[in-house]
Amino acid sequence: MPREILVTSALPYANGRIHLGHVVEHVQSDIWVRAMRMAGNTVHYVCADDAHGTSIMLRAEKEGITPETLIGNVWKEHTADLRDFGVAYDHYSSTHTDANRKLTYRIWRALEQNGHVESKPVKQLFDPERQMFLPDRFIKGECPVCHSKDQYGDACEVCGSTYNPIDLINPYSVVSGAKPVEKQSLHFFVKLADFEGLLKTWLEERRAAGGLQAEVVNKLKEWFADGLRSWDVSRDAPYFGFEIPGQPGKYFYVWVDAPVGYLAAFKELCEGGSKSGLAAADFERFIRAGSDTEMVHFIGKDIIYFHTLFWPAMLHGAGLRMPTAVNVHGFLTVDGAKMSKSRGTFVNARTYLDHLDADYLRYYLASMLGPTLADIDLDLKAFEERVNSHLVGKWANIASRCAGFVHKLFDGKLAATLPETVHARYDAAAAKLEACAALYELRDYAAAIRLIIEVADEANAYVADHAPWVMARDESKRDELHIVLTLALNYFRLLTIWLAPIVPATAARAFAFMDDTPADFEAALRPLLGHAIKPFQTLVTRIEPKNVEAMIEASKESLAMNPTQGSPSPLPSPTNGRAGKNAAPESHTMNDTSVPSKPSSSSSETISIDDFAKLDLRVGKVLVCEAVDGSDKLLRFELDAGELGKRQIFSGIKAAYTDPGKLAGRNVVFIANLAPRKMRFGVSEGMILSAGSGGADLFLLDADDGALPGAPVK
Ligand SMILES: [Zn+2]
Repeated sequence: MPREILVTSALPYANGRIHLGHVVEHVQSDIWVRAMRMAGNTVHYVCADDAHGTSIMLRAEKEGITPETLIGNVWKEHTADLRDFGVAYDHYSSTHTDANRKLTYRIWRALEQNGHVESKPVKQLFDPERQMFLPDRFIKGECPVCHSKDQYGDACEVCGSTYNPIDLINPYSVVSGAKPVEKQSLHFFVKLADFEGLLKTWLEERRAAGGLQAEVVNKLKEWFADGLRSWDVSRDAPYFGFEIPGQPGKYFYVWVDAPVGYLAAFKELCEGGSKSGLAAADFERFIRAGSDTEMVHFIGKDIIYFHTLFWPAMLHGAGLRMPTAVNVHGFLTVDGAKMSKSRGTFVNARTYLDHLDADYLRYYLASMLGPTLADIDLDLKAFEERVNSHLVGKWANIASRCAGFVHKLFDGKLAATLPETVHARYDAAAAKLEACAALYELRDYAAAIRLIIEVADEANAYVADHAPWVMARDESKRDELHIVLTLALNYFRLLTIWLAPIVPATAARAFAFMDDTPADFEAALRPLLGHAIKPFQTLVTRIEPKNVEAMIEASKESLAMNPTQGSPSPLPSPTNGRAGKNAAPESHTMNDTSVPSKPSSSSSETISIDDFAKLDLRVGKVLVCEAVDGSDKLLRFELDAGELGKRQIFSGIKAAYTDPGKLAGRNVVFIANLAPRKMRFGVSEGMILSAGSGGADLFLLDADDGALPGAPVK
């Protein structure tokens, strides 16, 4: 029976770039979608940017742009990165849409009407300077347990204790540096206890049906031990999000409207016209309780709680269907360790794509992905070897060794029939690979690849045993040769059909060569006979170690390039050791791993005033600021430097300012006597100073109004 399935990936946060950690998830779900479609099912595949929250509000403020402009810019980057990794969403939206607002309100009103909402006053830390309540990650202070300095409001990174931000010693706001005060405010809650019995039943039922991994269910059971507390779903202004209906100044916590965003994106797809084959009515058919359609989420193991407790509770409480499956994967490590900016293993999607083919990584990740929560290691050496050995050596090689003879001796045509024994050989291979359909559904891509490679080895052994290059010299063996080539190329086609969900672009080239368009896995059951193929062209090239090295170098560079032009950064750190206007992302963000590192404590070495005097620091007025074509790190500045004339400076802060045009007219501080440096894009005449730990966490220094261009900074 064909099934109808809505598939989603966790929503990337619209405050940072897509990196290889995200790619794991989007590739995992994309492979699943392609495989389920090839198995004959109807699949709708949607995602969106998670666009709300304090981090986005503060970042937009820092850049002097509206949050809408910020998330619009990031959306463009995200969609391009995912598309170029072959991730083919039917619709990629944003949570900041009218559709999402309306759907969030609809669910909220239903929750209210069904009595699942309560309100009560909450005491929280408040930034008196910035006039805002502070999320836990925006408060730092001394750990009440081990007394380490500069720890976040919810947990200590040194001793691992978790606590309430009110317990921090000498707390300060990372937004303004001010000492927070306690303030009371009315908050709204969803009464999760109402759903305890329901959720327990749902978890067990989903586990039995294969919709939840046993590890996930076991983890969730711990949360039930003390009973489910009500979930605080409101935040006070200022906040970038949806205002709660009838409650001016109160906003939905981003984790309320983020998962609703899955459905809102799907609603937009349904209402977006006939291309999807869906209509507005399909959305209601899909979300009603008891719908016979399926809803499948792919997520990382850091956001299990939101997807398996809050989200199903919200849906059920609003009278809607619940998820069919929540598929959880582990985190990506590189060479056995956490992705690291200093080692160059924190690789952005775009940096990878600048150096390597998307299908290489899709293939390698698939070969590592199973149905468990285990972390996935990108071992760079194994990556190179496996792609070269499997895709080039075992797969493409079959076609490249046989195609020429078909064109030279048989007019480009495959034999019209196969002798029974040869046909049986094909049938056996086809039957063996049919098991891949179930492996794909179980997300055991690693096992599917093992099976595919087993058959590829059989095919290569067959070609080697019959040595068509030897047979071709013997005119009496023409018919036999034609059979050998026909079976070999059908082996190749069979393998390609089963590999297609994993390496779609590469498979498309192979099908173009075979002049074939197999629509589903069923096409693999019958060999292509009496069929004309196209001339062979290279389908996949070997990974060169230098490309992998260049990617790692470029990823290192993006750190080193942060402040300005390539030298390790002598960044002025706020002298009080605080993060200044540093905006740490809230810990709720889907997939966000870019928590800025702590400001480095000031060095104990001292310099003389003469050392300092060597620096010619000046105020510059930004005349022009723009992105640099061909660089994903640099912004090009033209500064009015007063008596020094105009200066062109390249600065590696693109990740921190998505709308560079907006910087025109403001003051910056730069080093005027740094030796000019010739770069690929032009000469850089100085270095602009910024504060922060790198990436999006960089803040240009400013001078108060009245400072003239060229004014010395002392
Ligand atoms: Zn501690």
